[in-house]
Amino acid sequence: MIDESKYEGRTEGKWEYDSATIHATAKGGNEIIAEYPCWNYNKDQLITKEEEANLRLMADAPLLLAEVKRLREENTYLNHMLDGVDKHTLDYLAEEAQIKMHEAGECYDFCIVCETDGEEE
Ligand SMILES: [Zn+2]
Repeated sequence: MIDESKYEGRTEGKWEYDSATIHATAKGGNEIIAEYPCWNYNKDQLITKEEEANLRLMADAPLLLAEVKRLREENTYLNHMLDGVDKHTLDYLAEEAQIKMHEAGECYDFCIVCETDGEEE
């Protein structure tokens, strides 16, 4: 579980990747909040694809944090919805959900349809 209190006081607003820096665009400004060390540039003063991907991941940190919060709230809501549902109904609903996900091509490792397909043939 991520301790979100570690991020209190961070620069608010959207973060954007640009060249080797990350800018925060809060308060109408365009403040550099992180910069990739210049000694990591190659001879053409460019960062590698991997370094660019790392910077993009860092710039998306506020979005990822917001998604974690959204998913936690959704999970809490769904758990409350399932409170009081008996085990047989829950098993039935889980099976129906897995079948729907399989049909949509969104199988997880525990997909019961894919597992049983192999056994039936
Ligand atoms: Zn499947």
